[in-house]
Amino acid sequence: MEEKLLYAGKAKQMWTTQDEDQLRVVYLDQATQLNGKQKEHFAGKGEAAHAISDLIFHYLIDHGVETHLIKKLSEKEDLVEKCAMIPLEFVTRNTVAGHFASRFGLEEGTPLSQPVEENFYKNDELDDPFINESAAVALKMATEEELTRCWAICRQVNQLLTPLFKKAGMQLIDFKLEFGRRSRDQRVILADEFSPDNCRLWDQKTHHHMDKDVFRRNLADLTTTYQEVYSRLQSALEED
Ligand code: ADP
Ligand code: UDP
Repeated sequence: MEEKLLYAGKAKQMWTTQDEDQLRVVYLDQATQLNGKQKEHFAGKGEAAHAISDLIFHYLIDHGVETHLIKKLSEKEDLVEKCAMIPLEFVTRNTVAGHFASRFGLEEGTPLSQPVEENFYKNDELDDPFINESAAVALKMATEEELTRCWAICRQVNQLLTPLFKKAGMQLIDFKLEFGRRSRDQRVILADEFSPDNCRLWDQKTHHHMDKDVFRRNLADLTTTYQEVYSRLQSALEED
């Protein structure tokens, strides 16, 4: 059976495999902003984002989180469980930044008294609009039970990763997760990726950005920044 390109995304490609319940993910050497309207090539970025995401997903799996990751296939590729994706982004914010700062006229870096949880409808043409739970359920994007499970996993991820990043000298400002129904049994699991493409990380001491904002705001080299995040995480895990 020929392997087909199922989906060409902004940061990754999803390929079919010989097993209809599994996909091959290829991380690309590119970064986009404004929902794909601006795209740039960065040599080594795909490999660095992939290395970080695999390290994080293994850490989460070791701590009981169910994810789509089956195994690494190469420096840029993973084998994953195929999912029917829930078309929502699950954003958790620990500190004010990005659109949350501009939307409410707040200063970036303001701590939040408790994590803020927001859903966005994943749709580039509509610029990923904010959506609340009742609309997501009414529009049959997910059931209430599925949303409850997804948010419970988001909280677990935040509780696991905030101290891990802290140990690596970074502050986990916010992050976006995606979930899908595993095609072999419909179980809702954590899918997509966890890399500085979908989270904000600030250096603990200098507050320098160590995530995709270095590209969005033209602050530093993206690949070098991601490589630094990876090596810090690796050192933090070796100390464990
Ligand atoms: P985007 O769609 O935002 O451009 P990517 O370039 O990262 O993002 O593309 C990856 C796509 O694959 C996303 O649409 C994501 O929802 C989807 N995806 C991630 N994990 C899985 C999975 N296990 N099964 C099916 N689709 C997935
Ligand atoms: N995010 C993402 N994909 C999106 C929008 C946001 O991964 O399409 C991530 C983003 O990297 C950040 C968090 O979600 O870690 C919150 O992003 P925000 O709403 O502040 O929007 P942004 O300013 O990043 O566009």
